[in-house]
Amino acid sequence: MIKKENYFLIFSLLFVRTVSVSSFGYSKRQQHMWSQEFKKCDGNLQSPIALSTKKSVRLPLPALEMNGYHDFLFQPLSLKNNGHSVSLNFEKNKIKNKRSPFIFGGLLNINQEYELEGLHFHWGRKNDRGSEHSLNGVRYPMEMHIIHRNMAYPKMENAMVNVDGLAVLGIFFQLQDNDNENLKPLSQNLPSIRWIDNQISLNTSITLSSLLPNDIDTFYTYRGSLTTPPCSEAVTWIIFSTPVPISFRQMNQFRILSNGEDILADNYRKLQKLGKRKVYLRKLIQNYSSYYNQFDVNVTSLDWYWQ
Ligand SMILES: [Zn+2]
Repeated sequence: MIKKENYFLIFSLLFVRTVSVSSFGYSKRQQHMWSQEFKKCDGNLQSPIALSTKKSVRLPLPALEMNGYHDFLFQPLSLKNNGHSVSLNFEKNKIKNKRSPFIFGGLLNINQEYELEGLHFHWGRKNDRGSEHSLNGVRYPMEMHIIHRNMAYPKMENAMVNVDGLAVLGIFFQLQDNDNENLKPLSQNLPSIRWIDNQISLNTSITLSSLLPNDIDTFYTYRGSLTTPPCSEAVTWIIFSTPVPISFRQMNQFRILSNGEDILADNYRKLQKLGKRKVYLRKLIQNYSSYYNQFDVNVTSLDWYWQ
């Protein structure tokens, strides 16, 4: 006979297992249910969206400045399969007098800096899908997100409840035959984190700049949300138009990962309505005669929304 206490123990174990395995999924039906638990997922400023060159407001905006992107990331560094994605995690401020990488410029709040918080990926089971944003109708096989917190807010919890709390860089990947050597510190370690909650420390040195596209001068920027629950509408998105190369072999290394039930892939959210939002495109004008006015955009006068 099982004692009352043991019933409680068994019940608790079952319950903890159910809630810890997965609180959200990516099937059409599951995505539809996100908003039941996370109300914000039904909001008007959601991401990802379909980006279009034609429909964007093209301006010579200030450059995006990246500080510490050429430095090796601090050890310890770890790579984790969390069941929804692969994330690269950093120890912050471990080294005295050494700051974490941060960004500013573009259409980010003037005089504010946004500090690195983490990095993860979204990818498809097949090559014709995987990126969260689309660009001129194209869905790339993978998209990387580099998350930064506005340092005006002390913690992620505070940043997530403010419209200017986060800045996320979106980077598309495009398939090619040859391996991308810069991705190897990550891709070659994927077999070691095949199963959910597997984590491995990376002993190799890696810089953020090595994961960026060649052209970082051209980007789209708009106000949106986290693309996973709780879907917080706190993100200034900065999405580079030029993709980073990845080989077919490296792409397939992502597709051997498990989410606990199935292959971890197609972990991208469906496109959300743009609504009244403006998308700005930073593209410098090549024409010499206009060179002198191109840095004169008064950023503070720009509005994120159509009236
Ligand atoms: Zn993401």
